[in-house]
Amino acid sequence: MSSPNIKAPAEIVSINPADGSEAGRVPETSPADLDAIVAAAWTAYRTSGWKDLMPHKRAEVLRAIADGLEAEKEDLARKQMRDNGKPLSECRGMVDYAVGTFRYYASACETLETEVTPPRGPYVSMTVLEPHGVVVAITPWNSPLMNDATKVAPALAAGNAVILKPSEDAPLLAPELLRVARARGLPEGLLQVIQGRGAAIGSALVSHPGVSMVSFTGGTETGRTIGVLAACKIMPVALELGGKSPHVVFADARRDLAVAAVIAGIFGSAGQSCVAGSRVFIEASIYDEVLAAIVARARTIRLAAPDAEGVEMGPLASFHHRERVEAFVARAQSEGGRILCGGARPEGAAYASGAYYPPTVIDGLGPDSLTCQEEAFGPVLVALPFADEADLIDQANGTAFGLACGIWTEDFRKGWRVGRALEAGSVWINTYKQSVTTTPFGGFKSSGIGREKGMDGLRLYTQVKSMYFGLQEAPFPVSK
Ligand code: NDP
Repeated sequence: MSSPNIKAPAEIVSINPADGSEAGRVPETSPADLDAIVAAAWTAYRTSGWKDLMPHKRAEVLRAIADGLEAEKEDLARKQMRDNGKPLSECRGMVDYAVGTFRYYASACETLETEVTPPRGPYVSMTVLEPHGVVVAITPWNSPLMNDATKVAPALAAGNAVILKPSEDAPLLAPELLRVARARGLPEGLLQVIQGRGAAIGSALVSHPGVSMVSFTGGTETGRTIGVLAACKIMPVALELGGKSPHVVFADARRDLAVAAVIAGIFGSAGQSCVAGSRVFIEASIYDEVLAAIVARARTIRLAAPDAEGVEMGPLASFHHRERVEAFVARAQSEGGRILCGGARPEGAAYASGAYYPPTVIDGLGPDSLTCQEEAFGPVLVALPFADEADLIDQANGTAFGLACGIWTEDFRKGWRVGRALEAGSVWINTYKQSVTTTPFGGFKSSGIGREKGMDGLRLYTQVKSMYFGLQEAPFPVSK
């Protein structure tokens, strides 16, 4: 019998959204432990020798971490599948992505160059890149291991210590990353994982005076809160936030490719993707025809358990997230939207105990409706016609967001022109949702600040220091 005075440590339980079973549990971090966690990060930063290792030596450890993740690919993919319900094939792709990210930043940190700047006196002037110190990485539930790697790999490559806070809705993968990193030679304390509710422990961590930089991926409202906390400390912050990305089909597009991309762009990951192409703009002359093709394909998407044969869309990541998506669709109807397919929980025994929601296509709404302005973060596509380029640009740019866009046209000049005019951090012309570890990624407007991935994603975790070596032979005069 346990003593009434000894409190059992709190735990976060992850629920498998495919069937409501328990996917796993992790201990919740107590806010009372934050001081010790931050202090341990500083100790590791200052005493482990990590930041002073030659970059090619840090790279060896990063490559070993990549190898460790790769060796456990199937187990990690299955754990993520249970944690947030993504189809197994996507989860395997996420592990591959994380592996590639650690390998890329190993090479990037070995090859990152600084400048010798033009002198204006008897000295040699140059820049060096210093780590920030203790970086906090906060990640969402939709793609845990991938988002964790996108922050942790470059932050470590740059020489920082990292405190990683995953979402309480997908808490199982971050401890695995930590375990693999430690087993593959990362010094103790350089990476720590804390678990708990974002609004409580996440905010406390961001506000902590010992934290030097925050890198956040999540919703725009949370990003705003974190941005304010960072501003009060004059602390650098990177914010990768939400989107309402336009996916544009011109009359001259290859329609088979465009329709397939529109479908993949919104219904891949069940729409729980920051770059989901959630507004499809179709040139008026082909609107009915292309919309009919999109709806016909959406109806055939195989909605099934994440490990089922041929699954194309699994459940949403949690039962409470399904309620949010349902409320979004109900509001679309109250705004006058026509539900062309989906729009209600699927029926049948296969779906009864999971957080399933079908591909949903809506039209009949104006670009200023809340449905066209706010992110659903689910499998909900809203269709809008446009008259010409000017009308398209006006409508497509008419939201607070600016994360990504897709353009389908056979006219490369038009693709270039429209791509330059759309307010988005990533533009895909005759493709969609390509987001590779080697190419910068981030948002315009309320979709974020800063760029992750690519060399920009490594520089993000450094600060520039200017160094001067004096060459003068005579003492300085007091004034020149
Ligand atoms: P949230 O903003 O709710 O949460 C993201 C992370 O922040 C979670 O770990 C959460 O913890 C934590 N958090 C919540 N409140 C605070 C706070 N006040 N201080 C510190 N941390 C906090 O987003 P979701 O998890 O719901 O993710 C979905 C959103 O993320 C979508 O809007 C999507 O567009 C965006 N996103 C953006 C991406 C990008 O690269 N631009 C990529 C993927 C998603 P907890 O969950 O434990 O409360």
